[in-house]
Amino acid sequence: TPTIGVLAVQGDVREHLVALERGGAQAVTVRRPAEVAAVDGLVLPGGESTTIDKLVRAFDLQAPLRERIADGLPVYGSCAGMILLADRLADGATGQQTLGGMDILVRRNAFGRQVDSFEEDLHIRELGGEPVRAVFIRAPWVEEAGEAVEVLARVEHGPAAGRIVAARQRNLLVTSFHPEVTGDHRVHQLFVDIVRQSLRERS
Ligand code: GLN
Repeated sequence: TPTIGVLAVQGDVREHLVALERGGAQAVTVRRPAEVAAVDGLVLPGGESTTIDKLVRAFDLQAPLRERIADGLPVYGSCAGMILLADRLADGATGQQTLGGMDILVRRNAFGRQVDSFEEDLHIRELGGEPVRAVFIRAPWVEEAGEAVEVLARVEHGPAAGRIVAARQRNLLVTSFHPEVTGDHRVHQLFVDIVRQSLRERS
């Protein structure tokens, strides 16, 4: 059974722990460098990315997290977690740092202040036939993606149609939305499969 951590400095940690356990993993919280070293995969939850960034640095987690990501650790970032995995942020220059790893440019709060949150059904081939109910909460989107990035989902309706909201680059997976709040654990299942595959490749 793979051990998958949830970065637990801020954000909706509990829901991810539950979804990972449902997906067949042993889920643990991660707050210290030694805990970063002990996991087979890691979830970066939604929350407030500027706060998570500050706490990651305050808890001396930035260097160990960057090292493990560079070494191929599977990481799933949801919403604020997507922001943390981005190599580049749009309209940056606020002093906010990311962990990086994924060759994407991400725009925070991309859907505008007036649309605080919304839901949409998305069709994601990698998750089978049934659409996924995607819950967006002050969500980012991927504005540019490099060649190594596989686009998994785009917004299908409305003014933001075509914007990338789920993507994968080898062992790194990101979604703009929050699958942990819907009771549909297929995104977490996909991530657990990525972790299992990476363990097989390493052994
Ligand atoms: N707007 C938040 C940020 O910029 C992300 C929101 C979320 O994770 N639900 O960090």
